[in-house]
Amino acid sequence: MPGRLEGKVAVITGAASGIGRETARRFAEEGAKVVVADLADEPGKQAAEEVGGLYVRANVTDPDDVRRMYGEASEHFGGIDVLFNNAGISPPDDGSILETEMEAWDRVQNVNLRSVYLCCKHGIPHLLERGGGSVVNTASFVAVMGAATSQISYTASKGGVLAMSRELGVQFARQGVRVNALCPGPVNTPLLQELFAKDPERAARRLVHLPMGRFAEAVEIANAALFLASDESSYMTASTFLVDGGLSGAYVTPE
Ligand code: NAD
Repeated sequence: MPGRLEGKVAVITGAASGIGRETARRFAEEGAKVVVADLADEPGKQAAEEVGGLYVRANVTDPDDVRRMYGEASEHFGGIDVLFNNAGISPPDDGSILETEMEAWDRVQNVNLRSVYLCCKHGIPHLLERGGGSVVNTASFVAVMGAATSQISYTASKGGVLAMSRELGVQFARQGVRVNALCPGPVNTPLLQELFAKDPERAARRLVHLPMGRFAEAVEIANAALFLASDESSYMTASTFLVDGGLSGAYVTPE
């Protein structure tokens, strides 16, 4: 049976780690040719090797890097069908608006929002050349609901990704390019596990908001990216695709 992404070429940013890495695996399992783009060379090369793909070092905040990244991808594999614009950061110095300095604000905006602008600006022309394709931009559940423990620049950047994706989805709908925003809930990462092993009460305070009572596994987000990247989602564009274990549907009161 052919894979769900058979014959497609996908460029995944931030594919050296976490959700991006897991998605590179799933895409490759389903027949895609994968370009692993990241700044972290060692894990990036490993990830590319694991999936039989191409590693491209690129800083997604830099227009020259982004142009070169798609140029190399297209030259190597003969074209591009899928953009998964996934690279993002949430550093500790981005917190309450009262404490977050402009340097941290700008850094987060650049990596999380400017990068998506650049990747769409320089990536979509490659998709148009093929007669269409799918763009999946990673936003977050915080693009649709507020968090009391604020990461103000992160939240604003993801709101920007969501709004930009919607508008691009509308703009390119008749040219065969679909653009959707993937909005994950909190994911079970090594950092999170360490934090919660140390402080079970803190874990419980957060888990009470999740109807499923657990965080997502990276592969569960990767499977959603796979659906949006593949032709199975052919009637979806400009959507807010929440994969959050019911978090945004919950009304929780303190105990
Ligand atoms: P991660 O830290 O595991 O991986 C992010 C990758 O992006 C890293 O490999 C890093 O090297 C790369 N990267 C960072 N800055 C870059 C740059 N300037 N240029 C190129 N690559 C760069 O993160 P993750 O948890 O897998 O998150 C992936 C995406 O999902 C992010 O956009 C994040 O905001 C979003 N997200 C994550 C969660 C979660 O709970 N983990 C929840 C919602 C949304």
